[in-house]
Amino acid sequence: MRLLVTGGAGYVGSVVAAQLVEAGHEVTVLDDLSTGHQDAVPEGARFVQKCITEARDELDGMDAVLHFAAKSLVGESVAEPGLYWSNNLGGTLALLDAMRERGVGRIVFSSTAATYGEPERSPIEESDPTRPTNPYGATKLAVDTALTAFARVRELGAVSLRYFNVAGAYGRYRERHMVETHLIPNVLKVATGERESVSVFGTDYPTADGTCVRDYIHVSDLARAHLLALAAIEPGEHRIYNLGSGTGFSVQEVISVCREVTGHEIPAVVGERRPGDPAVLVASSARIERELGWKAERPALRDIVSDAWQALSGKA
Ligand code: UDP
Repeated sequence: MRLLVTGGAGYVGSVVAAQLVEAGHEVTVLDDLSTGHQDAVPEGARFVQKCITEARDELDGMDAVLHFAAKSLVGESVAEPGLYWSNNLGGTLALLDAMRERGVGRIVFSSTAATYGEPERSPIEESDPTRPTNPYGATKLAVDTALTAFARVRELGAVSLRYFNVAGAYGRYRERHMVETHLIPNVLKVATGERESVSVFGTDYPTADGTCVRDYIHVSDLARAHLLALAAIEPGEHRIYNLGSGTGFSVQEVISVCREVTGHEIPAVVGERRPGDPAVLVASSARIERELGWKAERPALRDIVSDAWQALSGKA
């Protein structure tokens, strides 16, 4: 297929673009490089430096769009909601209009567990209430809502994938955020000497060891779900799937595994809770397993951390 990958110079987008090229698809990556890295665009993909509101001319002859380009920092979204609404919702609406104009009727959308907010039960299923607790989650939910409505009237075929905590690396493709907020890369940066210690954001949560529990999914497993989603798109239908490994690990457990994998003592300093962090976020991925035959191949936290470490320490 001929595919446009928006945000394909970012972490998840670059891994999906690499797997699409490996599967024999003709891939164009569209990215404005506001947070992405041009050297993350896989060999064999065409690269266009543009933002999503300028995608129109790149859509001619495309069979589908995989849409990753977005602002994705929770804290920044609270401080600058306008930036998030205009980029994530406004930008996507412009992209959808351009797709309609150029006759492209298929989209895979990068959604998030942040659409659910503070969950009522664990694991979270797709039918659970969506009550985002920050503008980032709200903008992603707004796009999901728009996709459902557009699918009905425009014969658009769409799949939203709601990611839980994506981590690990795929060969040389790894997480490289300019502002790193995520746990695993921050812990590993202590082992490389880039940071002196890691902060543990709260030890008084109602969990076994008092630290927050998250569902870590290997970026390679996550990326593979996009290829399955692409093949499953039906015109006139919008499907939503959660994507996690189905097992929760606490912040302390993550730090322990990072110590084992790196052989570094990794000092940890207990700090305050980070506002807006739910105690436990674990996905039920039963729907995508049942309907698309997806299954996590590298669910072990040790494998996820090892692959991230190999890539970060230059051994991948
Ligand atoms: N966390 C932490 N120290 C850090 C970064 C994150 O204790 O330096 C905690 C955070 O409070 C959350 C978990 O690790 O409970 C995962 O956070 P991350 O930002 O990786 O992902 P999120 O769950 O917010 O999407």
